[in-house]
Amino acid sequence: MTKKEILGLTLEQMQDEFLALGLKKFRAEQVFRWIYEKGATTFEEMTNLSKENRSLLEGTYSILSGAVKVLRTYDSADRLTHKVLLGLSDGASVETVLMHHDYGYSACLSSQVGCAMNCTFCASGLHGFMRNLTAGEILAQLYYFDHVLLPKGERVSRIVIMGSGEPMLNLDNVLAALDLMHHDKGQCISYRNMTISTCGIVPGIEEMTRQGRTINLAVSLHAATGALRDRLMPINGKYPFPEVIDAASRYEKMNGRQVMYEYILLAGINDREEDARALAEALSGKECVVNLIPANPVPEKGFRRPEDRDVDRFFQYLKKRHINVTVRKEMGKDINAACGQLRASQLKEEQA
Ligand code: SAH
Repeated sequence: MTKKEILGLTLEQMQDEFLALGLKKFRAEQVFRWIYEKGATTFEEMTNLSKENRSLLEGTYSILSGAVKVLRTYDSADRLTHKVLLGLSDGASVETVLMHHDYGYSACLSSQVGCAMNCTFCASGLHGFMRNLTAGEILAQLYYFDHVLLPKGERVSRIVIMGSGEPMLNLDNVLAALDLMHHDKGQCISYRNMTISTCGIVPGIEEMTRQGRTINLAVSLHAATGALRDRLMPINGKYPFPEVIDAASRYEKMNGRQVMYEYILLAGINDREEDARALAEALSGKECVVNLIPANPVPEKGFRRPEDRDVDRFFQYLKKRHINVTVRKEMGKDINAACGQLRASQLKEEQA
């Protein structure tokens, strides 16, 4: 019999299941803390449970299925970025990134295996969409960093859902995972230190506005004219960007946090002055910040990263028009840390 995976269960779910197993309700809180606060990966180490209870749980559940295998790890030359390809129980793989900043660690987690959005510059969709990740699999990515990789006592303090996949198309599992990371008997990470990035799925943004957490919202805009955005991001046909900006503004009014608009700069494609003008117009008067991302070239996709002076010109143009703007600090370029690149290169080698 395959055991049930316990990572990903909420406290309430554990309580119900433990009662059904004949355990006392308060045992659920003990196990919950062992798993989510202390990072236990065996029932054996849960010393405040009796031997009998431990073996009952051991026979019923697995923790992390033992199935999340580390297939590959890469460190950038400066040692500040660490990228891992995790193998899941069904043979799928997913990539996840840890970054060391001066304020601490942040983790960039994936939400799906592959991606269906087909943005022209992104490696995540190169091999199509495979499936959604479960809440446990999203948490497992953080677990690997907190409990395997980092020295004892050091923890990730910021979470960005900017790895592979479109989180708004797997919103229930993404939010379930973030709620567990946020839980005061778990990791206790504040929602304000979490960011979900979307290519612009309007119903997902609206659902988040209804649910009302203070999670930060990032929107991948990348173009501010219909024609160009249609070309770069097919999702623009379904949710045209002015509707996305409106939905994001409603979200910003709900949580009082500036929306971040990501804008990847592709040389000669969306980095011209007319592009900057369209962007400044689209965002004028909005509570937001634009994060410019000089493109990470993906060999299969055939585009270039602009020269630094072109990045600066674009940046200065927006500044002059009173748009808050930053240029993304690039990390891990030497280890293919752009979304989906690691998994795509592994799949390519397997096919070769
Ligand atoms: N699907 C979500 C989250 C994943 S992508 C979204 O679209 O926001 C995270 C960010 O990395 C997005 O802004 C995406 O457009 C960007 N990105 C994708 N490919 C890139 C590349 N080759 N170079 C730089 N950024 C890239």
